[in-house]
Amino acid sequence: MNKINVADPGIKGINLRTNDVSEAEIKSCRICGSYKLERALEVQSNPNIYFTRCTDCRITQCSCLPKKAFIENLYNEKQNLLSKTEVNVGDRLGHAASHIAKNLYRQLNNRDRLLNTKVIHVLDFGGGTGQLSIEILKKLRKLLGNIQFELNICDYSKPELKKNIIGIKTKSYRTLSDLPELATFDICIASSILEHVTDPINDLFIIISKINRDGIIYMRTPWIIPLAALLKRIKIKIDTLYPIHLYDMGGDFYEGKVLRKLINRNYKIVMSRTSFINASPSKQFITYILSAILKMPTYIFGIKWPFCGGWEVIFKIL
Ligand SMILES: [Zn+2]
Repeated sequence: MNKINVADPGIKGINLRTNDVSEAEIKSCRICGSYKLERALEVQSNPNIYFTRCTDCRITQCSCLPKKAFIENLYNEKQNLLSKTEVNVGDRLGHAASHIAKNLYRQLNNRDRLLNTKVIHVLDFGGGTGQLSIEILKKLRKLLGNIQFELNICDYSKPELKKNIIGIKTKSYRTLSDLPELATFDICIASSILEHVTDPINDLFIIISKINRDGIIYMRTPWIIPLAALLKRIKIKIDTLYPIHLYDMGGDFYEGKVLRKLINRNYKIVMSRTSFINASPSKQFITYILSAILKMPTYIFGIKWPFCGGWEVIFKIL
């Protein structure tokens, strides 16, 4: 296969060749099948790859998916590059974990039931070495009392996980389809992962089918393409992270009617807001301030303000 070629955006330094992409230009939405697609942002030329927005389900997706071999190569050989992206939350780990733990705790209504449960089963989809989810569960143990967790991490890298963590038993799997057929979970954490996978709706279907009643799913995804398109008009380029990011999913996608129709289970969105600031105020001061400013209007306009960089939701299965 071709080596990763150095050139223009999405991810700075990666340019795909015709042989690297698996399909011709997109004709219909991969999520809902709609033909109502509108170009949102060019990513590269030769071959021409762009992000396109579905006006029905409101997801934004890349016009060509990279071939499986290209993605594998990217994830295997570019760990240094990946570690610099938001795949991990770096020195914001503690902040991110507190924020997510607090919000999960708020939504765990049946705490009494959970406290009587011997073990709370947690699924972390795309959680790498479990750094973030282990930290979240440690914080949840403080809030809930010394409850026992079983943490199941599904990550392409099938990492060696830390053992001997008090109150947290860990297991790892490579893909969602490797999970035991009858396994069900009370909590799912899918932080910054759905934008990376080639078939996010199928993964979401699998996750939702495995969540117990009253169980909750936390999801965080980038919503950066509207901002990138706006800035491009004034000749400012920002990194879209293509081909690591294949999708852009904002509040209008999660809260939209089409997603509700597609999901074959009754659920309620119990939290929907712009995601936490993923920059360190001490080390990335300018980014932190700009990010805070761009997120502010969402507190007034909600999903009508698409220039906030990212979104997070909690679904509760009814
Ligand atoms: Zn669609």
